[in-house]
This record gives sequence, structure tokens and C-alpha cells, in this order.
Amino acid sequence: MIMDCSKYVGKCVCGREHTLETKKVVVEYDALKNFEQYMADVGLAGKRRTVVYDSNIYKLTEGKHVQADQEIVLPAEGLRSEDVLIEDMMTRLDAPEVIVAFGAGTIMDFGRYPAYKLGIPFVAIPTLASSDGFTADICSVILNGQKKSIPMLAPILVVADLDIIKGAPARLVASGINDILSKYISLVDWKIARLVDGEYYCPMVADLAQEALNIMRKAADEYAATGKADIEAMTMAQMKSGLTMQLLHHSRAASGAEHLMAHLVEMHPPRFEGAEGIHGECVGVGTFLCAKEYHRLAALTPKAKPFQPLTSDWVMEKFGPRLYEGIMKENENDVLGTFDPQNIVDHWDEIRELIATIPPVEELEALYKGVGAKYLPEHIGIDPALSDEMLTVSAAIRNRLTLVRMRRVLDFE
Ligand SMILES: [Zn+2]
Ligand SMILES: [Zn+2]
Repeated sequence: MIMDCSKYVGKCVCGREHTLETKKVVVEYDALKNFEQYMADVGLAGKRRTVVYDSNIYKLTEGKHVQADQEIVLPAEGLRSEDVLIEDMMTRLDAPEVIVAFGAGTIMDFGRYPAYKLGIPFVAIPTLASSDGFTADICSVILNGQKKSIPMLAPILVVADLDIIKGAPARLVASGINDILSKYISLVDWKIARLVDGEYYCPMVADLAQEALNIMRKAADEYAATGKADIEAMTMAQMKSGLTMQLLHHSRAASGAEHLMAHLVEMHPPRFEGAEGIHGECVGVGTFLCAKEYHRLAALTPKAKPFQPLTSDWVMEKFGPRLYEGIMKENENDVLGTFDPQNIVDHWDEIRELIATIPPVEELEALYKGVGAKYLPEHIGIDPALSDEMLTVSAAIRNRLTLVRMRRVLDFE
């Protein structure tokens, strides 16, 4: 399948004018056979080209490599998205006019970061489709020793060769499913924020995220029933989800309360030191936890209570001295203080209807089991007794309006 991205660009019903760096997304078997044609289609024929691989991928994809003026093969051992490593690689660049990154998520950052710094385009050849970062314009790198999600260049062209991607191990297939099923929660969070706080909302982008979710749900059901993964559908779902971030320059459509669980695991606050899991797995645990909690809340009726900022004692207790300052800063202008909590109560019937679009907990559990996905805290090294704490603590990691965060201004007795 080839996606022409121009249909999403331009004046939109939401009032904004959307732009996309990404012109074309190719998701096909043997897609690399026509790589030169796709490069020409996006205006990159004959441009001086550096292609970046890691040593594992370089070996694994022998015979599939693309033409290059310069090849850089980074040692796979110890490779991580970190500014010093990327800048070190940049000193080796031989004046490219385009950088092609061939590999998984980490290698993409070795393409997009230098390309951004040099003001040249970047092309992605993903060898995995276990998350939706490929078509996004966000990059998760370690800057000055701290993991940061920063705005970054999106690829002008993505060529996903399914002959390579189909080799992904089952764990990564399941993780990819989890990353997209999270839209059940993130879309609801976004729609609730629009209702109660008038947050910016784009129906076109929400539909695109919903489309990614529908495609993945269908593929996941099939995979659970037959054991066969429709890699083309699953990869396309990831690409569409990533585009929503690029269209908004924000992850609102793709990441809600559930995604904060992945941040929680990465940050290892006190009591979560042993937490461990790949992105989609942590997100799956978050999705299941939120689904349970949202359905529970929908059965109750809230009363509004006044907004109180997070106290420094609470932040110190939950996050410890290492993370204290960052969390305090993030919550400086708490979004909960920007609207009347009574709005939530007044819209509760509509919120209930939104929550009703999240599949029942039993249905989700059966699906997770069917696809071999992680979905319980203990699957990622967290004591299940901390379930509710996971919600409360993770909600403080990002100043974004989610139903989990709204619990601070609601009483459910
Ligand atoms: Zn729009
Ligand atoms: Zn994700």
C-alpha cells in the first residue's frame, strides 16, 4: 500500500492549516526494489546520500541495502539515542544532501537528528513496526544525560519493506498492537479535554487516529484467532498513528493517560525501580489500567472539588530528590487550574458516552491474551498493589489533561 500524504495537508475544518514533512509512505512487500523510484518521486533523485545502519541490521539485510554515496555502519552494541553519540557520528558525515536511516527506532534518531541540524531531508527505512514513531516529528533522545522528547524532523519518505518487517519476533508484534490499541484511551482523553476545557481538537486528525485503531483492532482480532499477523495492516496502522503527531506537532491524538505509564517505567521513581518493559508493553499495561478505571468511574457520579496544586511534599515523596525538580516544573502551570471543575460534572453524561467506546475490560483482556501482549503491572515488573498509584503518579509526569488527572478535582463518593 502506498499512502499519498497530500490529502491531509492544507486548510482544515479545525481552523488550522496542516502541514506534513512526509510526502509518501510505502508499506509493501519487496518495497526496496523500487526505492530509487520513490526517492525520485519526492525529488531526491541524484542527491548526495549517506545511509546509516547499525551493524546487526547491516548483516541481517544483506542483499537489501540501498545505493549510497556514503555508508555508515554503527556498532549495534551499546547504541542508544544520545546527543554525544549522534554528534560523534555527525563528524563522519561526508557532506550529504539527504540522510537515509535504515533500521529500528534508535537508528532513526541517527538520521533525523543530524538531518535536522544540517537542514537536509531524512528518509526512513524501518525494519520494525512495533511503535508509531517512524512517521512522527518527535524524537526521544538523551540530551545532557536526560531523556527528552523533542520536536524533530519527520522523514520526507518512509519505505517499509514488509519482507524485512515480517521477520519481527512475536514480542514486538504484540508490543506494536499495544501501542495502537492505546488510542482507545488517548482519543477519549482528548475528547473529554475538549468538552471540559475547550482544548483544541481536530476531527480530521481524530478520525485518522481512529482509522489506525480500527485497522489494528481488526488485525489483532485476526492474529488472536489464527496466529497469522497481517503485517501490512499493522505497519500501516503505525504509520497513520505517527502522522497524527506530525499533523498536530503534538502527540495528543496518540498518547493519553495510558502512555504516561511508559514514561513512569523509564523514569523509575521510588517503588518503581524494578519496572522494565519495551514501549508498547508499558503502554499496554497503561491502557488496561485506564480502561478498568474509566469504566469504574463511568458507573459513578462525581462532585466537583476545588483545584489544589500538587504539593512539594507529595512530589518529593512520590518522585524522590532525583526527579523532584523536573516534576515540579512540569506542574507549574497545572492545566487542572485553567477551568472550572464543575464543567466535568456538567458534561458527565457525554463523558460516560465517550467511555462507552472503550471496549469492556473482559473483551480487552481476552484480546491481550489472544495476541500474547503484556497488560498487567506484574508483566512489567510492578507490584499489582501499586495499580492505583501508577495512575496517580504517572498523571503528574506530564501536564496534560486526562481523566486520570481530573480525578484530583473530583469526588466520587
Ligand atoms: Zn485539522
Ligand atoms: Zn506509543
